[in-house]
Amino acid sequence: MHEMAVAQSILTTISAEAEKQNAKPVIARISCGKLYAINAEALGFAFEAIAKGTTCEGTKLVVEHKPIRGQCRNCGEIFEFELTSPACPKCGSEDFGLLPDEPLILEDIEFLTE
Ligand SMILES: [Zn+2]
Repeated sequence: MHEMAVAQSILTTISAEAEKQNAKPVIARISCGKLYAINAEALGFAFEAIAKGTTCEGTKLVVEHKPIRGQCRNCGEIFEFELTSPACPKCGSEDFGLLPDEPLILEDIEFLTE
């Protein structure tokens, strides 16, 4: 299961950061491309399971999906690709390529401050 491996690597990163800050992580924000094959719910469950008994127990994972971007072959415009209107917003051309999907990134960790 892909999500378990991802959860494990996120947990390792958050734990290391928590140790450095000497604080309890409350929320971890993750972003990835829309096409990235990750199920946010499955990731949440996997993370919760492996975080039990660690400093990350109870840390909430928030996954944000970044839009897919396309680049127009006619005018070079880079735009957010929408399935509902698959055309360049600048020149209206339907001749465009899709840019590579965004990787999974741990954007931000919020710690409990007292
Ligand atoms: Zn264009």
